[in-house]
Amino acid sequence: MHQLPNLPYGFADFEPKIDAQTMELHYSKHHQGYVSKLNEALAGHSALLDLPIEDLLKDLSMVPEEIRTAVSNFGGGHYNHTLFWANLTPEENQPDSALRELIDLNFGSWDKFQEEFLKAANGVFGSGWVWLVKDEANKVRVITTKNQDNPISENHTPLLGIDVWEHAYYLNYQNRRADYLAAIWSLINWSVVEKRFYGKESGRDSED
Ligand code: MN
Repeated sequence: MHQLPNLPYGFADFEPKIDAQTMELHYSKHHQGYVSKLNEALAGHSALLDLPIEDLLKDLSMVPEEIRTAVSNFGGGHYNHTLFWANLTPEENQPDSALRELIDLNFGSWDKFQEEFLKAANGVFGSGWVWLVKDEANKVRVITTKNQDNPISENHTPLLGIDVWEHAYYLNYQNRRADYLAAIWSLINWSVVEKRFYGKESGRDSED
């Protein structure tokens, strides 16, 4: 059975940038909903239920057609949110020099990377995610996905994922997605991003 990951911080720890009620609803209702519906879809498919969710998302052809959409949506929702919680922190932190060099190499400068990332995030129409990913050639780039789609389906390694569904910010920011993004930019755990680049942190279910 899949289950919610433990959060390494409290619901109120991002106040006032992200309010405690948004955090609690997002985790206990939205993310829990994806986990519950994923487990329901996989009930009766015990061989699949035992696999890490990223294995299924990487190759949905192994999932029977009648539950494929459910696994993609709810499994994607579970996986994306697990990555999301882990790449946030209330502790002020800075990207270290190795990550900065990598970003400079791929985007020209840190400021250009931030600009491209936030522009992509603001440009997501409807519900979706913005990502920093590592591609198969070890290049890092910014991409967006719709709904709960995930970069691993495209053979990209997600390094940083930011939720731009309205449920992530509407209580506090209403339609002001740009303000939410400016706030959450200061809550990113850059050491997790760097560990993911080097393959040391996968965002897997804790029980996998
Ligand atoms: Mn969400």
